[in-house]
Amino acid sequence: MSARPVVAAPLALEAAMLRGARGDADVVHTGMGPQRAADAARTLAREDHAGLAVAGLCAAISPDLRPGDVVLADAVDDGRRPTTLPADALLEHELRRCGLRVHRGPIRCVDHVLGARDRAALAGTGAIAVDMESAQLIEAAGDRPRAVVRVVVEPDGRGLLSPRTALDGVRALRALRRSGAAISLWARALAPRTVLLAGPRSFCAGVDRAIEIVERALELRGAPIYVRKQIVHNVHVVARLEQLGAIFVDELAEVPSGATVVFSAHGVSPEVRRQAVARELDVIDATCPLVAKVHAEARRFAARGDSIVLIGHAGHEEVEGTMGEAPEKITLVQSPEDAAHVALSDPEHVSYLTQTTLAVDETEEVVEALRKRYPTLAAPPADDICYATHNRQQALREVAHDSDLVLVVGSETSSNSKRLVEVAERAGTQAQLIDDAHDVRLAWLDGVRTIGLTAGASAPDELVSQVVEALRDLGDVQVDDRAITRETTRFNLPREVR
Ligand code: SF4
Repeated sequence: MSARPVVAAPLALEAAMLRGARGDADVVHTGMGPQRAADAARTLAREDHAGLAVAGLCAAISPDLRPGDVVLADAVDDGRRPTTLPADALLEHELRRCGLRVHRGPIRCVDHVLGARDRAALAGTGAIAVDMESAQLIEAAGDRPRAVVRVVVEPDGRGLLSPRTALDGVRALRALRRSGAAISLWARALAPRTVLLAGPRSFCAGVDRAIEIVERALELRGAPIYVRKQIVHNVHVVARLEQLGAIFVDELAEVPSGATVVFSAHGVSPEVRRQAVARELDVIDATCPLVAKVHAEARRFAARGDSIVLIGHAGHEEVEGTMGEAPEKITLVQSPEDAAHVALSDPEHVSYLTQTTLAVDETEEVVEALRKRYPTLAAPPADDICYATHNRQQALREVAHDSDLVLVVGSETSSNSKRLVEVAERAGTQAQLIDDAHDVRLAWLDGVRTIGLTAGASAPDELVSQVVEALRDLGDVQVDDRAITRETTRFNLPREVR
């Protein structure tokens, strides 16, 4: 049986609260004060455990801390030498999900109970809270995963004999019990792991180009630059560009007349272009050239009199843009069931197009169903599902088979990221879509030793690295880079920003 994690609680009452969480970790009552903590640490250090959390109550130094708030220490210091602690980002967010207010900062460890005045005197050290055991106890972790979680019982400026102490004590103990649930999940998630990195992953050429267009426009023309819809479907990318001065709008009516507006990578319909001309907007078009290619095919098929079936997802901006090229000729089909029922007036002249970011195998099923109805169905000259979508799905298929869990970094609005989740699930592996490391739930990791990791075409690769770093706080991580190909595609920038 593998070693179990330990939770060290200095007071018997603290240990009782933490045991209420009934996790895998062994909750050990270690005794009050630095001497007992040092004795307990020596014993714990000799034991074979998987990791150590120190948990209990503390008193506030910072005025920002209220009774019942949690301090997840980033360092502990007994005045001789500080010990830096891991970021423990996954634990921090699990504590927040328990409804707790969490503060990050150093904890100062002292050798006796301090009154309000003595605590205030420690404010200059940078510590935000004080306790009497964490610095000694955490030594027992060695190089194993570790965390210090303390719940505030005394706010700054108040001593132990205040009439409010009993009430605050109850609040703090309740919060400690809730913290115990998160610590228990953390303890169950401790394990060495392998991360299989799917490649290619993250930004494609169209996304790179669209982001660079906004950045260049801001550089050349200054803020604000208006962008119609999210430039690419990723909350982090949008937030960064907002900070640089981009203003994202849903409709052109929100853009002041004569201002510069960028059309997103997903493309727009001719009607939107007409509106831009009518409002005398200065347009820079960031439509991905591979989306523009589908628009051109729609115009060509419509001009020769075909009825066009567009395979895609209703409401997606790319689909709206493509349908706008020939609204009276295009019928949207979302599934094989739709394809089996679609009714077109001229069955001899039917062609199909697809959204660029669909799941390849699912789309084949839809095309097959259409062909049964319309045997002369005309295909686009080259597959509309773009190279980046193909590559990311193929790369993920390769790792999903060998993984216990797949994590896809990408936003809920990102079609290609959601398709990656489906690809993993079709391969029989559970998969989760996460915006970033903060979304990783510790409960997902219980018993998981191999994680397949990828990112949708609109998600920055640094978010993938952050997930790996967050996993390292739970145990050793071996990273196996499984790139199936190298992408070299680049698209030129439009002349307005060259
Ligand atoms: S996913 Fe494909 S179509 Fe979409 S922006 Fe990237 S390269 Fe262009």
